[in-house]
Amino acid sequence: MDGDGAAGDIRCDWTLAQVRALHAQPFSDLMHRAQSVHRRHFDPNAVQVSTLLSIKTGACPEDCAYCPQSIRYDTGLEREALMEPAAVVARARAARAAGATRFCMGAAWRSPKDRDLDMVAEMVEGVAALGLETCATLGMLTPAQARRLKDAGLHYYNHNLDTSEAYYGEIITTRCYQDRLDTLAAVRAAGIRVCCGGILGMGETAEDRVAFLHTLATLDPHPESVPINNLVQVPGTPLAGTPALDTIEFVRIVALARILMPRSHVRLSAGRAGMSDEMQALCFLAGANSIFYGEKLLTTGNPDTESDHALFGRLGIRPEPAAAEA
Ligand code: SF4
Repeated sequence: MDGDGAAGDIRCDWTLAQVRALHAQPFSDLMHRAQSVHRRHFDPNAVQVSTLLSIKTGACPEDCAYCPQSIRYDTGLEREALMEPAAVVARARAARAAGATRFCMGAAWRSPKDRDLDMVAEMVEGVAALGLETCATLGMLTPAQARRLKDAGLHYYNHNLDTSEAYYGEIITTRCYQDRLDTLAAVRAAGIRVCCGGILGMGETAEDRVAFLHTLATLDPHPESVPINNLVQVPGTPLAGTPALDTIEFVRIVALARILMPRSHVRLSAGRAGMSDEMQALCFLAGANSIFYGEKLLTTGNPDTESDHALFGRLGIRPEPAAAEA
């Protein structure tokens, strides 16, 4: 189970027992191993920077228990119709000027209708023409829809597994785990890179977290991006009031993701606003090497760009150029 050379530690045949054993290691041992793996595959002082824009907000028919965009929960969120492509491209241009190299477009849909997809395809073409990496998260896709997005120039598709298969039914009842895996397979088959992760602190057990990472780490190939979110508790959603996850456990999961998926970008995503600079520094030390950057992360706050610049300066971190992941 020891990591060997740079190529020798990429594997998709992890057993659940191996992942469990890694997770149970003393913290210092886990961090040392994660750092060793990280340094074999990445510049440890470079962090990839993405910006996320909500292109259609709220009124989603799904019932994800963490999400203020579900039509089922009264969270006071203002709904917004699908944006015009020109407006999205203008926001992407501003994100590029602020240092982002990847631009993610998120829409609160169960799955896109074909006429919506035409609009999104126009956005993708416009954003790609700016030299940015493009990413979209639009819900479930058919293989034909995935191919349409690929043809428009989409580089990444985000579709999270969220948690373990065993716990999934506690969080979402309007679709099943296999639906998620089917969309991921359609995205991969279309030749689009996969961005897939989950949310910690939803009341799941440590075993659920281990099983969730085991599922990700046995996808072949691994997702190129792995967002690890810390639950943002939004009043009005069923998960408001869930006991917060221990911060050391959060860092452990980041380290575990790094060890299991050595070449993936592990991204600190939602919940970063609630993390101290010291916790973020520990996450970078554990192998996190991507963040979302910008004022808002879909509908919850994100640290503003100035405090991110200051933290990067204190840690000697620099943004990773887009070409590094191409
Ligand atoms: S997470 Fe996505 S699919 Fe679930 S309710 Fe929110 S917008 Fe809809």
